[in-house]
Amino acid sequence: MHPFAYERPGSLAEAIALLGRHGAEARLLAGGTDLIIRLRDGSLRPSVVIDLKRVEELRPAIREEDGRLSISATSVMTDIAADPRVRRHFVALAEAAAVIGSVQIRNRATLAGNICNASPAADTAPSLLVYGAVVVAAGPAGTRRIPIDEFFVRSGATTLQRDELVAAVELPLPARRIGAAHVRRTRRRGHDLASVTLTCGVDDAGVTRLAYGSVGPRPVLEVDESGTLADPGSTGEARAGVLERMFLGASPSPRSMRASPEYRVAMLRALGERALRMALDRLGGG
Ligand SMILES: Cc1cc2nc3c(=O)[nH]c(=O)nc-3n(C[C@H](O)[C@H](O)[C@H](O)COP(=O)(O)OP(=O)(O)OC[C@H]3O[C@@H](n4cnc5c(N)ncnc54)[C@H](O)[C@@H]3O)c2cc1C
Repeated sequence: MHPFAYERPGSLAEAIALLGRHGAEARLLAGGTDLIIRLRDGSLRPSVVIDLKRVEELRPAIREEDGRLSISATSVMTDIAADPRVRRHFVALAEAAAVIGSVQIRNRATLAGNICNASPAADTAPSLLVYGAVVVAAGPAGTRRIPIDEFFVRSGATTLQRDELVAAVELPLPARRIGAAHVRRTRRRGHDLASVTLTCGVDDAGVTRLAYGSVGPRPVLEVDESGTLADPGSTGEARAGVLERMFLGASPSPRSMRASPEYRVAMLRALGERALRMALDRLGGG
């Protein structure tokens, strides 16, 4: 491992000052489940690693305030999957958090780390897109809020500035009733990223949101406002046509070691239909 200095700030101001001082030479550490691997294999060689776990303002916390649920930067998947408010209002996020890696990984891995790593296969990304999450970025000028769909750029790149960090992820409490489900396909559970990861959400006004990842450089959100997918009277053909259009944003790489483009697209269709059925059942069942 390339040698690096280790900093453990106690406050947000200190963490941001360290980021400002070291610029591109610095890397933030949350759970370390992505970062440590990249430090070990040498694909990242920062001169400073800034550990966020002792930052007072970022302590693990899931709070309901001002009509939204706020998940702090060091909250881990295990706690997110078990939180009763997440399970009640954002079940697809709870499901996504519950399938990430193994128990050991989920006990360390943070939601903020999952999105900042910006893997197209990040399992929480589709549910965050469907629920309209907002990223709270903290930097020297204060905080700003970035809609999650404007956060992802491509693999490994986000719209976060170099001197900013993610302080929290906020989820607006749904104004309407939503049925939602997260599903995915992976080669080996606990050890491998998803070949396809997908969330479907249908609200009681008939709007269907479908988000999917691991089939292109960044996760994609598509919205069907025609009501076709949500309408129990629609024909299978009509639904398949709408789904097919929603999947046009998929552009799986032919060079991936995980799955061929043909397999991914076939799985996208199968998982899309499955998640839609589950979302409709849940909406119907309250
Ligand atoms: C065996 C194994 C299995 C895995 N399985 C899955 C899986 O099934 N699904 C899945 O999606 N992922 C999986 N992962 C990847 C990983 O566990 C997740 O991406 C995890 O959520 C990363 O969170 P972390 O806290 O460990 O991030 P870290 O490793 O600490 O950080 C990841 C990146 O985000 C940056 N970062 C972290 N926090 C912040 C912040 N607050 N602000 C700005 N930048 C920040 C870091 O600098 C780093 O670049 C797996 C990893 C392993 C090792």
